[in-house]
Amino acid sequence: MPNFAMLIDGEQATAQHTFAVTNPSTGELVGMAPQATLSDLDRAVATAQTAFEAWSRVSDADRAEACAAIAAKIGTHAEELAQLLTCEQGKPLNGLGSRFELGGAQAWASVTAGLSLPMKVLQDTNEGRVELHRRPIGVVGSITPWNWPLMIAVWHILPAIRTGNTVVVKPSPFTPLSTLRMVELMNEVLPNGVVNVVCGDDAVENIGAAMSAHPGIRKMVFTGSTATGKRVYANAAETMKRLTLELGGNDAGIVLPDVNPEEIAERLFWGAFINNGQTCAAMKRLYVHEDVYDEVCSALTEFARNIVVGDGRDEGSVLGPLANEMQFDKIRSLVDASRAKGRVLLGGEPGEGLFFPPTMISDLEADDPLVAEEQFGPALPIIRYSDVEDAIAQANSGENGLGGSVWSKDIAHAKRIAARLECGSAWINSHGGLNPIAPFGGRKSSGLGVEFGEEGLAEYTDIQVIHC
Ligand code: NAD
Repeated sequence: MPNFAMLIDGEQATAQHTFAVTNPSTGELVGMAPQATLSDLDRAVATAQTAFEAWSRVSDADRAEACAAIAAKIGTHAEELAQLLTCEQGKPLNGLGSRFELGGAQAWASVTAGLSLPMKVLQDTNEGRVELHRRPIGVVGSITPWNWPLMIAVWHILPAIRTGNTVVVKPSPFTPLSTLRMVELMNEVLPNGVVNVVCGDDAVENIGAAMSAHPGIRKMVFTGSTATGKRVYANAAETMKRLTLELGGNDAGIVLPDVNPEEIAERLFWGAFINNGQTCAAMKRLYVHEDVYDEVCSALTEFARNIVVGDGRDEGSVLGPLANEMQFDKIRSLVDASRAKGRVLLGGEPGEGLFFPPTMISDLEADDPLVAEEQFGPALPIIRYSDVEDAIAQANSGENGLGGSVWSKDIAHAKRIAARLECGSAWINSHGGLNPIAPFGGRKSSGLGVEFGEEGLAEYTDIQVIHC
């Protein structure tokens, strides 16, 4: 079993205590992760503060080159990282699983390397010249979730260091091992202390809470649940940290009556069931017009019936188990509660261990928990509507505002409906696809700020205006 350590100041930092990380497909031990203490966190932050002095002065071209070198490193080690990710997270190697995630991590690193925020001249007249500069903020604290741990770590780390900040990252206790290894690889091409990683079991010592309040951290970037995001927001207030919060979603898809159900079934399925539904911007509620309701349900269940669910390490698996027991219990209880009122069209019965088959449930109403809450798992409520105004109102109900989609042959009409959805990203005839140059973020309680593209990069800077 390989040894997993934190990485502080370019060196492995072992811990006195460790905690077990298990494979959700089998329950087998994958590795022991180090349990950080508060003094480990202090040391990581102090190291990052020291490294900031030099890194913030490195030229823009050299920082771009370092980010490109990270992208190449991830590419070279993609298979090793994918294997480790599958073992600790459960997602299959193939399909939209670990290899796909590593491909995304490499692509995002590479695109971020190529982005820049040049100085802007706001005025240059006889009355004077006014320049807008973007300055790095300082030490960035990054906290990541367990669903797409490596891709999300890259989403946080790369724009932070591209703009001259240094980083302390803390992965989820469910999936820390692949991030520990990836940060070790990043350190092969970065100066010491630019990217550091600490980790811990929240129940032993909540390192994430300590990071959010830490006076040496100047910005927090957090991806996770809305409940924890609100804690980060509150804890960060005292030290006036800059914040990017990417939180939960309860994305709705609206299917209009003019669709061809067979043509859209596969895209509808992956919009909802990517990573077993454990994806922030997955489609979590599907509203289908009554004229095509039965046909859409049957095309979708027919497609889903052939999906192979199995051990992530099996090359034939298309979906794996749920990532942890907490998530499994949540899905099981939401599905059990829905059974009384709704009709189970597919799935519904848990498999062995943490396996849960793709599940679709009809005839639920707005206040049923599977519709009203973010399930974050493979159980999709399919709701019948007759008036599109009702579907729009229901899609916009609740506090979430991450994504939404409209499905129709009439793109112009679909775009008019998409414009009325209160969400940060809206898709036509697909759901959940992201692009490293397109800003991504949530409205309402789904988040604060955006990631990706120039707008995402700008979130890792403070503005300085020079009047001369
Ligand atoms: P979570 O909130 O339970 O945990 C996220 C991280 O926060 C973990 O690293 C955890 O250790 C840490 N943490 C725990 N307590 C903390 C505290 N008090 N202060 C600071 N950090 C603390 O979320 P999760 O279960 O890992 O992820 C699932 C959730 O994340 C879902 O709601 C999903 O929608 C959301 N998510 C959102 C996006 C997005 O981009 N909007 C992406 C992925 C996941």
